[in-house]
Amino acid sequence: MQRSMRALSLYPHIPDDVLARIGPRPSVFPKSADVVIVGGGIMGSAAAYYLAKAGVDVVLVEKDKVAAQQSGRNWGFVRTQYRDPAELPLAVEALSLWPTLEQELGSQLAWRRTGCIFLAQSEAELEQFEQWLNLTCYIATDARMLSGREVAALMPALRVKAAGALYTRSDGQAEPGLATTAFARAAESLGAQILEDCGALAIDASAGAITGVLTEHGFIRSNMVICAAGAHSHRLLGKLDLFLPQQVVRSTVSLTSPAPMISEACFCGYGLGLRQRPDGSCIVAAESLSDVDLTLDSMRSARYFIPELLRNWRTFSFRFGRPFIDDLHRRLTLPKERLALEPRRPLIAPNRKRAANNVGLFHGLFGGAHDVAIVKSWAGQIDVLPDALPVIDTPAAVRGLIVATGFSGHGFGLGPAVGKNVATLAMGATPNDALKPLRLERFALGEYGRSHAPL
Ligand SMILES: Cc1cc2nc3c(=O)[nH]c(=O)nc-3n(C[C@H](O)[C@H](O)[C@H](O)COP(=O)(O)OP(=O)(O)OC[C@H]3O[C@@H](n4cnc5c(N)ncnc54)[C@H](O)[C@@H]3O)c2cc1C
Repeated sequence: MQRSMRALSLYPHIPDDVLARIGPRPSVFPKSADVVIVGGGIMGSAAAYYLAKAGVDVVLVEKDKVAAQQSGRNWGFVRTQYRDPAELPLAVEALSLWPTLEQELGSQLAWRRTGCIFLAQSEAELEQFEQWLNLTCYIATDARMLSGREVAALMPALRVKAAGALYTRSDGQAEPGLATTAFARAAESLGAQILEDCGALAIDASAGAITGVLTEHGFIRSNMVICAAGAHSHRLLGKLDLFLPQQVVRSTVSLTSPAPMISEACFCGYGLGLRQRPDGSCIVAAESLSDVDLTLDSMRSARYFIPELLRNWRTFSFRFGRPFIDDLHRRLTLPKERLALEPRRPLIAPNRKRAANNVGLFHGLFGGAHDVAIVKSWAGQIDVLPDALPVIDTPAAVRGLIVATGFSGHGFGLGPAVGKNVATLAMGATPNDALKPLRLERFALGEYGRSHAPL
């Protein structure tokens, strides 16, 4: 154990280690901007970068720190593999951007093209992967099925005999916090203003058109606003009478001490998600198990999620306790206008039991991993939509508003392409065909399908 810990060099542990202030706050608070972005996750930060690169005057407001939420807490998979066909064009576009980003942004992102492997535990699972491959082979050109023998050759440390696997060699991985802050820093160096600790109280509109953003430090006039506020987007959109059926689930992740070589590729199988870093340490998590902390917000759009809950009830654990009480307390004690940004810095507790189970699973799956221990665990709040597809849209009801939210647990890899597309929209382009399935009104019109994989 001591020996392993000494070898733990690596990139900053996520999420808290990367949360350094991006730059000093400007001495004069901006009164106006061509575009205001709400949210300093990977979507907002990448959009800020592409806008600043095009010479647009852009301000990003973040209630906490850049990368403080999902974009600094995730597993770091960058995959096209097994995505819903509706978001595959974006995933393919993103994968074409990732390899040159370190050079372009001038920062280390720990990007590596290591592949992605999803193990099939049963013939039924194998058949699901084959169906996906048949449906998407026109665009997921690098994905292929592996036989059990090929899996064993690719992953000699694996102790179980898989029925086969889905494998995409060209998929990759990056460090979430590094990538997100790299976008924000590059945007700033090109003239964007990144205001951390600056929450948006409301996106303001008049006569059906955007007029600016009211922040806790003042009003920023603009006729173009991008709402990329992750799990809190529904609150800001609600004030504009736009309904987003968004729910939040809590997902626990752990970082282990260095292990012998287990998998070059990002790995999912037998209930475990795993990404091994260059120093051998692993990011481990349950493949699709999450906790649902019940609050008054959870009731808001519950009916949209009932079909998914009934189908996959085993993957959710409902918790009633501290988060409910805290939420109620905030609602009773805080001025209503502050609720869009509270809790400013949520305490998101990891599920210790789940973390221990994951490591147990890890030990069982991989030979030589018996002395690997958890270094730290954390959790992230995933913003989910009923079909597990995001909204990337310019809703007709509010001219000048762009929404990029609801990435349902798999937005990190898409980030560069989303930022680029959203920046293009903000510069006046009409949504392209790839964005059509992602429009907001699909929920109000009932024109959405089942989620492609469990939420
Ligand atoms: C545990 C976990 C594992 C995951 N694994 C992967 C993976 O391997 N691969 C993958 O592709 N995706 C993964 N994801 C999903 C991915 O992290 C998200 O889809 C993506 O980061 C979403 O980015 P975002 O910018 O939309 O949201 P966020 O990163 O959540 O950013 C939104 C920001 O808005 C800010 N904000 C909210 N309200 C306000 C306000 N009123 N004013 C100002 N700012 C505000 C928040 O503080 C936050 O920083 C995972 C997510 C989690 C939690």
